[in-house]
Amino acid sequence: MTLNDLWFDATCCFIANEWVTPDSGRFLDLHNPSTGLAICQIARGSATDINRAVEQAQKALDSDWGRLSAAERGRFLSRMGQLVREKVDTLARLESIDVGKPLTQARADAVALARYLEFYGGAADKVHGSTIPYLEGYTVYTLREPHGVTGHIIPWNYPMQIIGRSVGAALAMGNAAVLKPAEEACLSALAFADIAREAGLPAGALNVIPGLGQEAGAALAAHPAVRHISFTGSVSVGKLIQTAAASNAVPVTLELGGKSPQLVFADANIDSALPFLVNAGIQNTGQTCSASSRILVHRTVYDEVLDKMAERYCALRVGPAMNDLDAGPLISARQKTTVHEFLARGADLHIAAQGKIISDAPSAGYYVAPTLFDQVDSQHTLAQEEIFGPVQVLIAFEDDEQAIQIANGTNYGLVASIWSRDGARQMRLAKQLRSGQVFINNYGAGGGVELPFGGTGLSGHGREKGFEALYGFSSLKTVAAKHD
Ligand code: ADP
Repeated sequence: MTLNDLWFDATCCFIANEWVTPDSGRFLDLHNPSTGLAICQIARGSATDINRAVEQAQKALDSDWGRLSAAERGRFLSRMGQLVREKVDTLARLESIDVGKPLTQARADAVALARYLEFYGGAADKVHGSTIPYLEGYTVYTLREPHGVTGHIIPWNYPMQIIGRSVGAALAMGNAAVLKPAEEACLSALAFADIAREAGLPAGALNVIPGLGQEAGAALAAHPAVRHISFTGSVSVGKLIQTAAASNAVPVTLELGGKSPQLVFADANIDSALPFLVNAGIQNTGQTCSASSRILVHRTVYDEVLDKMAERYCALRVGPAMNDLDAGPLISARQKTTVHEFLARGADLHIAAQGKIISDAPSAGYYVAPTLFDQVDSQHTLAQEEIFGPVQVLIAFEDDEQAIQIANGTNYGLVASIWSRDGARQMRLAKQLRSGQVFINNYGAGGGVELPFGGTGLSGHGREKGFEALYGFSSLKTVAAKHD
């Protein structure tokens, strides 16, 4: 597939099932991170387009979409999931070109999008309120109701997965969604819009407005008719979103990244841990909110883990997305500069090993070699700040107490893992870790759409994924009926 084969108009906004030219009449260039070349133009949506989209979303809530039963909503999502499955290869190629993801990873994202739609399609009619015992002469029950129009501001690193978990759950609960994809990569969001149209989703239930963050994004976050905002992205923009939402007193879900640790104890099965230790750091070229960028190792097995990880790093190959290697390029020249700046700040550290950029990778692509640093102090910038690149640091610890202290010693708390065969330690540390998710003898559990996900501290708040997300995308009404 080439971009000439696009089956939707990438230069348009998607409002009420129509492809609409942006009001600004202006467009943005989209770049292929593997080559650095412009691939096509996308709409530069503005506050006017956001207003139109919100208006149409509200109209959908007041008409067709708002009148559907939960089961009927679920059927639309299931149908969309089925269409995504039929188009997995096409979507994967699109995402590879747009985001620079190796094909296998892009394919996994497309399959995950289908899974989210299947999961939320099946869950739509299984969310219900409860009855509450109260005073004699009363019947009290609760209703779970949609917020109304929901805003979804998403980044470029996992567009399909984030659309699935956020828009999927919002639609399942009967909200009408306005999605603002990232300006760096938004083709899969537009493809998703077309899939919704093909599935017959009532007009206005889903609207997609591409554009710049400070224009379309800011307009969506501040729109007074938007009743919930879900945001995935940087800490700095997350704070702006929460501030904008506060001015309208609407709830937000913020998923802002992390500095996630894996704790390797002396009794761990190191060979089973190894693929997780490395992959969790270099998957999507480290541009993953839940990337594991800190590997904490008990000093008695430190050298063994270091040698084995270094061996894997030396075998890592980085190149164009279509070559489907271990890692692709970073998303942009800006991101490459950021990662290089971090590497420069690690000039005082020892590099244990690096992967290789293949020799025929286009010189204008945004490539960076995966880098493993060892014997890093837990307070070093590279052990404290989110890099969003393929960089991991190894930190030695003496005992459980120090392991927890280091693991909890950043401003983030998204994901953590414990590698140990000691059941009591597993349970004790799982409670002590300040983290939205804790994995024991694995990491990330393959993404699991069923598993509630979100952070503490600067990693954000609110939970997406799993059943929990459905509560976040709904509001609870208590009805207290007196019998006479
Ligand atoms: P990253 O640094 O990973 O690119 P950002 O937080 O900058 O992440 O962007 C994530 C999403 O937030 C993108 O869709 C972007 O357009 C949007 N965004 C950026 N700035 C703003 C803003 N001021 N208001 C609303 N959305 C924004």
